[in-house]
Amino acid sequence: MSRSTATIACVCCGKPGQHNARGLRTSCYDRHRAKGTLDRYPRRPPAAPRPPKEPHGKRMLARYAELVSRRLSPARIAWELGVGERTVQRYAAAYALQRAEQAQGRAA
Ligand SMILES: [Zn+2]
Repeated sequence: MSRSTATIACVCCGKPGQHNARGLRTSCYDRHRAKGTLDRYPRRPPAAPRPPKEPHGKRMLARYAELVSRRLSPARIAWELGVGERTVQRYAAAYALQRAEQAQGRAA
């Protein structure tokens, strides 16, 4: 797994540096960890799910929904779709969002 080394402006001092975590550059992250002050810089929330927009992605999501309705395990769904389990997790998030939006549409 490759690690991102994006250059950022550090959230604590504003100086540029390699991003480590929590919006901190590596030297500041190490300093805050040593001082026990990392909790001043909260972890970033996970990214919001992005529903597929392309035809292939929509077909895959529809197939995912069909497999979920058959109560298959995530590992089996991954095998059936020919994707990794992380991709199945992404489909699950997109599917949950889609169902929530449909439920809102019916309620409105
Ligand atoms: Zn800093």
